[in-house]
Amino acid sequence: MKTHIVIGAGQAGAHAAVSMRRAGFDGRIVLLGDELVHSYERPPLSKSFITELESERIANFFPLSHYLNEKVQVLAGVAAEAIDPAAGAVSLAFGGKIPFDKVILATGSRPRTLSVPGSDRVLTLRTFADAVQIKKAFTSGRKVVCIGAGVIGLELASAAISRGCQATVLEVGDRVMARSLDKAASRTIEAMHRDAGVEFAFGHSVVAVEPHAVVTDVGLRIPADVVVAGIGVDRNVALAQSAGVSVGKGVLTDASGRTNIDCVLAAGEVAEFYSEREGAHVVLETSRHAQMHGTLVGQVAAGQELAYDDVPWFWSDQHGANIQVAGSHRAAGSTVYRGDPLSKSFCAFYLNSQSAVVGAFGLNAGRDVSAALRLIRSGAAADPEILADITITSGKLVSAPRA
Ligand SMILES: Cc1cc2nc3c(=O)[nH]c(=O)nc-3n(C[C@H](O)[C@H](O)[C@H](O)COP(=O)(O)OP(=O)(O)OC[C@H]3O[C@@H](n4cnc5c(N)ncnc54)[C@H](O)[C@@H]3O)c2cc1C
Repeated sequence: MKTHIVIGAGQAGAHAAVSMRRAGFDGRIVLLGDELVHSYERPPLSKSFITELESERIANFFPLSHYLNEKVQVLAGVAAEAIDPAAGAVSLAFGGKIPFDKVILATGSRPRTLSVPGSDRVLTLRTFADAVQIKKAFTSGRKVVCIGAGVIGLELASAAISRGCQATVLEVGDRVMARSLDKAASRTIEAMHRDAGVEFAFGHSVVAVEPHAVVTDVGLRIPADVVVAGIGVDRNVALAQSAGVSVGKGVLTDASGRTNIDCVLAAGEVAEFYSEREGAHVVLETSRHAQMHGTLVGQVAAGQELAYDDVPWFWSDQHGANIQVAGSHRAAGSTVYRGDPLSKSFCAFYLNSQSAVVGAFGLNAGRDVSAALRLIRSGAAADPEILADITITSGKLVSAPRA
């Protein structure tokens, strides 16, 4: 009987293991994860888990009974230490080896850390255990400094405010969520945070974290009882490197999740996969990507010929507002607003020079962003007047005739 091992029991790994079985692989499937809690959703950890006092619930992707039904053997709290492709074996950290025919690396990322004096005082957020620590630290009246104005930093600022803390976001760049938003959308989100009481310090980098303050390179000393950092991630590529797998920003794969070594595939956040859409290798740090990519790579491991072509999409919840981003604004030549961009609910559609929608940003406009996703996939030219016409329901935007 063949054995396929999935290393990393996060969203990508869990979906890879289950989809492999669904796709007809009838050998042994082992899902190996170093966390004691098995395959759970990370998005609530920076949102409801911290804001809802009562809730310490953890949301698993599948109940254990589902793995039993699918005959997926889950090993929680077990770290893989090395992969030997020639011998076809994974060595485990506590000793012992598991032989394999194929292995899927789904080892994800870990938070990047600061290396300045006092950085051991800085909390980061990736795991359930991290979230428990942050939740305890966010008690009413405390001064929280969030380093980094990306999604995690902003969600933590929002969570801090809702727990009665004061929140300051410190950012080396000049705007919020600069990796995923255009300047106008950044301004919208920043204004929403300022309205909720969050303060910002842009253009500052941290030089020291003192017991009660964060010190920046321009001499600002921001009072802080709690310091959290959301300054990006480093991908867990050490295992891949130990196996001789090519690594760039992440584990390099083709559009099907295959690496340069036949029996090794990679899925989810750890993978730097070839995207036909971008014509380049890309990395993505979103929940949907982890699920869709994990699912596809599991199917490939089961013998199917598939290429990954999902349109990037993510959401974030901040101060009670839902933010969604689809595709990218970078290739856009124009923006069409559906709804008033100064209001609490609108969608910005980004169009390229052929009038095809290439990206969207929605504030409390999930349906419009769903329509944008379908338009991006279709690649067809869209009519700006129709997109802007709020008398046409978003469901009809995709099928509405072009004027
Ligand atoms: C706090 C937080 C909030 C988020 N919110 C959103 C959101 O609102 N919207 C959105 O779209 N995305 C969000 N994301 C991103 C999304 O959750 C991640 O992109 C997704 O979880 C990545 O899944 P993954 O399985 O690829 O990696 P991971 O979730 O990192 O899972 C990898 C697993 O592999 C384990 N592992 C690593 N090395 C080994 C080893 N040697 N042996 C065994 N196991 C190993 C790791 O411990 C981990 O459990 C959020 C992420 C975080 C951390």
